[in-house]
Amino acid sequence: MTSWREHEMTTIITLVPQNFDAILFDLDGVLTKTARISEQHGVELYKPAITLTRTLRAEGVKTAVVSSSNNCAAVLEAAGIAQLFDARVDGKDVRRLKLKGKPEPDAFLEAARQVGAVPSRTIVVEDEIAGVEAGHAGQFGCIIGVDRIGHAQAMRNAGADVVVTDLAQVQVALEPPSAWSLVFEDYDPVQEGKREALCTLGNGYFATRGSAAWVAADDIHYPGTYLAGGYNRLRTDIAGRVVENEDLVNFPNWLMLKFRIGGQDWFDVRIVKLLSYRQELDLRQGLLLRSISFEDSQGRRSTLKEQRLVSMSSMHLGALELTLTAENWSAEVTVRSAIDARIVNFGAKLYRKFNNKHLEPVVSEVFVDDGVCMLVRTNQSNIHVAQAARTQAYLDGHLLDIKRRVIKEPGIIGQEFTIDVRQGKTLILEKTASLYTSRDHAISECGLEARKAIVRAGRFEGVMADHVLAWKNLWSHFGVDVYPANPGYTSNVPMLLRLNMFHLLQAVSPNSIGLDIGVPARGWTGEAYQGHVFWDELFIFPFFNYRMPEITRSLLMYRYRRLGEARAAAAAAGYKGAMFPWQSGSNGQEETQELNFNQRSQHWVADNTYLQRHVGSAIAYNVWQYFQVTRDVEFMHSYGAELILDIARFWSSIASFNSECGRFEILGVVGPDEFHVGYPDAEKPGLDNNAYTNIMAVWVMCRALEVLDLLSDMRRMELTTRLGLSTDEIARWGDISRRMYVPFHDNAMISQFEGYEKLQELDWEDYRTRYGNIQRLDLILEAENDSANRYKLSKQPDVLMLFYLFSTEEIGELFQRLGYPFEYESIPRNITYYAGRSSRGSTLSRVVYAWVLARSDRKLAMDFFEEALQSDASDIQQGTTAEGIHLGAMAGTVDQIQRVSTGIEVRGDVLRLNPQLPPEMERLDMKIRYRGHSLDLRLTQDSLTIRGRDGAAKPISLCVNGKAFKFISGTTRVFQLKNEKPDGGPHK
Ligand code: BGC
Repeated sequence: MTSWREHEMTTIITLVPQNFDAILFDLDGVLTKTARISEQHGVELYKPAITLTRTLRAEGVKTAVVSSSNNCAAVLEAAGIAQLFDARVDGKDVRRLKLKGKPEPDAFLEAARQVGAVPSRTIVVEDEIAGVEAGHAGQFGCIIGVDRIGHAQAMRNAGADVVVTDLAQVQVALEPPSAWSLVFEDYDPVQEGKREALCTLGNGYFATRGSAAWVAADDIHYPGTYLAGGYNRLRTDIAGRVVENEDLVNFPNWLMLKFRIGGQDWFDVRIVKLLSYRQELDLRQGLLLRSISFEDSQGRRSTLKEQRLVSMSSMHLGALELTLTAENWSAEVTVRSAIDARIVNFGAKLYRKFNNKHLEPVVSEVFVDDGVCMLVRTNQSNIHVAQAARTQAYLDGHLLDIKRRVIKEPGIIGQEFTIDVRQGKTLILEKTASLYTSRDHAISECGLEARKAIVRAGRFEGVMADHVLAWKNLWSHFGVDVYPANPGYTSNVPMLLRLNMFHLLQAVSPNSIGLDIGVPARGWTGEAYQGHVFWDELFIFPFFNYRMPEITRSLLMYRYRRLGEARAAAAAAGYKGAMFPWQSGSNGQEETQELNFNQRSQHWVADNTYLQRHVGSAIAYNVWQYFQVTRDVEFMHSYGAELILDIARFWSSIASFNSECGRFEILGVVGPDEFHVGYPDAEKPGLDNNAYTNIMAVWVMCRALEVLDLLSDMRRMELTTRLGLSTDEIARWGDISRRMYVPFHDNAMISQFEGYEKLQELDWEDYRTRYGNIQRLDLILEAENDSANRYKLSKQPDVLMLFYLFSTEEIGELFQRLGYPFEYESIPRNITYYAGRSSRGSTLSRVVYAWVLARSDRKLAMDFFEEALQSDASDIQQGTTAEGIHLGAMAGTVDQIQRVSTGIEVRGDVLRLNPQLPPEMERLDMKIRYRGHSLDLRLTQDSLTIRGRDGAAKPISLCVNGKAFKFISGTTRVFQLKNEKPDGGPHK
């Protein structure tokens, strides 16, 4: 038995409350000395028993008293403990209900029924042999004998699992909340959408939402299976025009596995009495687990368990195992297992008015006795997706040879079979599915490969073992392990961080390397933002750069392959170089919706956020950061340089010279703050001289000049000739990067854009009072026939992004180059100014605020960090998580831990560490890859240990707290941090 441990010598037992739903106490001899109320002493209690009752109740374990005494109720009342018990079965009930007395189990079974617990998850505490025998006969999960008169051995013989002389020997393991599991202890229809997204399982190739296997899409559930990069375009006639949208397609649902007991309806948690419900996302092993005990309208009690995975080791496989235990019934169980292609994209509210039927079934068939196959195609992009699924049933460990009926209807292929299940038996159903597409590498035809994979896949256990091992290896590379101090954080930071890393690794993983995919803002967990790729990579890549840069390289190739489209977009707009789209999908054309529907006003509103040209700078920044960490000269030579040069070229051509101020300007764009897309009442959208855009353009041009120097003369010649880059144009980069205009107001306040100071202040208090949640002020104002463009407000950091991406030193250099005075002291003023005028309508906001405030207001920064960390776990935007998790914010929080704590940075070919462990942490362990080295970092409040794994990488330059040295692989260095004044952190 795993639910309790007996320490042999001391006979102390430890109960793990999570393993039990109820505890049943005998009265006299266990809780009280006798079943009588003495005139003199009242009721004499056994105090440890009462303490145990209280402790278990606090942990959610139900409590009941089972006694043959008629006096039971009066005794409990007189002792003042009646309220401690959820149920009572006493002598009167035994007679009334015609129950058999102990040693028959009837009274215990009745008490368990009353508190809604199954015997296997219920503890019985008894001091009489007959009572122990009753517990044993009822097959209760744990029987504790209380031996006050020396008959311990007889109790053991009667079936006690453990015997104590006093209940003080029973301890309760009050475990801290798990650092590796996201757990939900109930079924809550309101939360279900969020949980489906959070419990999505994926492997960087495909992903499946955490919907139960027996549900179909309805107003609560939304099963979704998404293929990384699986898009399709559809047109819709809307608001008087035809708009085209590219969606991440919801592919057929391979999960579908339903059952019904006897002639009842198909199982659904909504039509049975739930006795217990537990759902766990096991982050360590990459498993989704469900455990449900329920009672149907016929009084049949069952325990249902599910284990599910999307294989990290065999990227075309998904598998689930359902076990159904017949607690008190024998009946025929009918099972239906299918692949359901009757799917439309209906997961995101914003797009429900658009056409959404992307799939056309091509072929469906039964291809082996126990296996079916479904081939569909997307109706515009013509991606063929084949899924094959095999379902097997086991009883008593034996594979059942069953007769199957074929279910073949339009859009669905499956099998149905019936199995006779006897009381106490457990039916095991294993369903393994494979998924291949016409875009896969190394295939003949996707249907053929899917069928082959299913025939080859072994039992669930084997598929699971390989998968668990793959996760183990992943965590050994990617783990960022935080050990909180006491008192540390207010939330479960280690688990939340792991949840975030888990989703990062499910969106892109080693399986993604070489696939033509970008990293979407919402992972592959829902249909929000139509699965598009934005600038969020900027927040996501640092996690991968330092751990498996091959992944970043592969994702950068997604951008490189779309350079042609970005060049065409620039040319069409009258510019040179590459103008990358704000939202990108299959082929790299602009995918931002033309119109969005504002639910508040019921208006279709033009979406002008596509004017966020700064996305190109983010791509250049990402190439540069990747190169810093890896020094991957070949990548820079073949691809990276071309990306940076063409992006710089775009900035140079969009920048115009203003002879009045003698500086260059960039007009008609939108900055990261999406609430400002134009000037109040202006006819055309776009803003002039967005400070972030202009400074990033300068930075890109500086890097482009540097890149030209990095290339061999041959490659430089080749590239400049091919791109038609003249020396004049290159000289112009130098010029622009020294004379770009940056607007300021109010004495050294960097203006978000030119004219920002003329906007009105918003009455924040008024809006908060009237609307409560004002995160989407843009929609609120539009619905009031007003516009966010008129006010000094923001959705997210814009100017402040500069302090997020660059150290103070780098900012100083940029301003110096531009010939603007720059005072370090003005940074906190800028931060306070803009942070105070933001509605924080994007989850990215909190990541940036936490970072920029890390130095000036540690407490506030920590609040922002903890809020960012829970963006999805707590659905802080109140409803958006159900449509997809927010990968940028998730990654940002991990990056925060890695960068704020260690001060890690690569500059001038030196890996710099300026450690400063926040007081909330006792220790941080993480591994990084840097230029061929594998380094284990351990940071405590007092020391930093860097252990270099053996390897052939050349020595590197390391600099810890300003002291530089060579580091050789296979060596370990320990740095004492006490009394050293770290100069690291965000603003060096
Ligand atoms: C934010 C963008 C972000 C996008 C996708 C929007 O709400 O304003 O900055 O790129 O979400 O995450």
